[in-house]
Amino acid sequence: MILDEAAVEQLSEQTVDKYRKYVNPGIAGILSFSGFSVPEDHAAGCYIWDASGRKFLDCVGGYGAFSLGHLNPKVVGAVKQQLEKEALKSHFFMSTTLADACELLASVLPGDIEYSFICNSGTEAVEGALKCARVLTGRPEFIGAINGFHGKSFGSLSVSGRDVYKQGFEPLLPETRHVPFGDADALADVISERTAAVILEVVQGEAGVNIAPGDYFSKVREICDANGSLLILDEVRTGFGRTGKMFASEHYGVQPDIVTMAKALGGGVMPVGAFSSTERVWDAMFGKNPYLHSTTFGGNPLACAAIIAAIKTTIEQGLVERSRALGERLLSGLRDVHKKYPWLVKEVRGMGLLAGIEFAEEDIAALVIAGCGRRDLLAAYSLNNPKVVRIEPPLIITESELDTAISRISEAIEETGAMIEAIGSDCE
Ligand code: PLP
Repeated sequence: MILDEAAVEQLSEQTVDKYRKYVNPGIAGILSFSGFSVPEDHAAGCYIWDASGRKFLDCVGGYGAFSLGHLNPKVVGAVKQQLEKEALKSHFFMSTTLADACELLASVLPGDIEYSFICNSGTEAVEGALKCARVLTGRPEFIGAINGFHGKSFGSLSVSGRDVYKQGFEPLLPETRHVPFGDADALADVISERTAAVILEVVQGEAGVNIAPGDYFSKVREICDANGSLLILDEVRTGFGRTGKMFASEHYGVQPDIVTMAKALGGGVMPVGAFSSTERVWDAMFGKNPYLHSTTFGGNPLACAAIIAAIKTTIEQGLVERSRALGERLLSGLRDVHKKYPWLVKEVRGMGLLAGIEFAEEDIAALVIAGCGRRDLLAAYSLNNPKVVRIEPPLIITESELDTAISRISEAIEETGAMIEAIGSDCE
């Protein structure tokens, strides 16, 4: 239902007030200041409507959760159908939806990764993966990458690589180290017989879409093998076609020991995560005690119905290939923008429909995000590198919608440049 102007104003004020009192005053402040005080109302496909009826092209895509767009009809249909039968697990019987979801996952996961544990979020997936590595190796240490992002619960925060989110929460997991992403020699220098696992994103997302050299992951694999350490690849953001392959690890031909997933796995309808691994790892984790790691809500029938529909839809609609082809179009469009504004844009990089525009300063990135918002386009902030604006549209975006996104981004950059020039000339 679209509201009139007075009703929108009232709803916005009430919501900001409730955020201030009951949710998070800081978020209320940031969103109001950036011009997003009207709450969201509904969403479909590549669009989100706010309560005033204003329609935004969504290039944040739920930070990767909306690969299939909002309310994808196949996923919604599957979840609704399941809801007629049963929502959550009894935990007494076996579940066919869980068995089918794990079988389907095994069919798309790389190499001999067959077993999956379904949980509810990315951070839970990472916690499970870290526990697997500890129990199999009996070793204490984890190595992650500087600026890597794996979530904000204690284990995932420990292996993430930005200190600002750790302050005040120490002690975190002991014996965690961080090395520069993309530098295999740096990893070789610190790994030892104490290292349970190396955990890496395949493309660093929150660090600002960092792409490693082509031989990096094969070297990492060798280094892990030589030291008896496991390799955990975090595909929470990059899984299910985002980078133009079903899993980003396929770009590098590397075989991980454990894969973590979430976001697009739930088809943009259910909050879902998973960690998956081999028989060897599963035997160490669940061989002696099948309840060594467990969850009340994870793997519930609604979530599994969403997983099955999401994976099938991704394959049937050729979204992995689509992401590859449209990713090239997006990068080439953004590179043209870079050429036009070289003093503002430092670099454009990406893989599939995961692109980053690195600006000279954090403030420029923030102004461009606000400028995109004024043009009804949503673009993403990067938590671990705020100089980078990320463009992560649903994989179902059309060519013309993508072109619209590129031209709105270009206009927002042009406007930001003009503002900076005007401020500069005022100060002279
Ligand atoms: N791992 C990666 C690579 C992520 O990008 C994220 C979230 O952005 C997470 C883990 C944590 O996922 P969640 O927010 O579902 O806990």
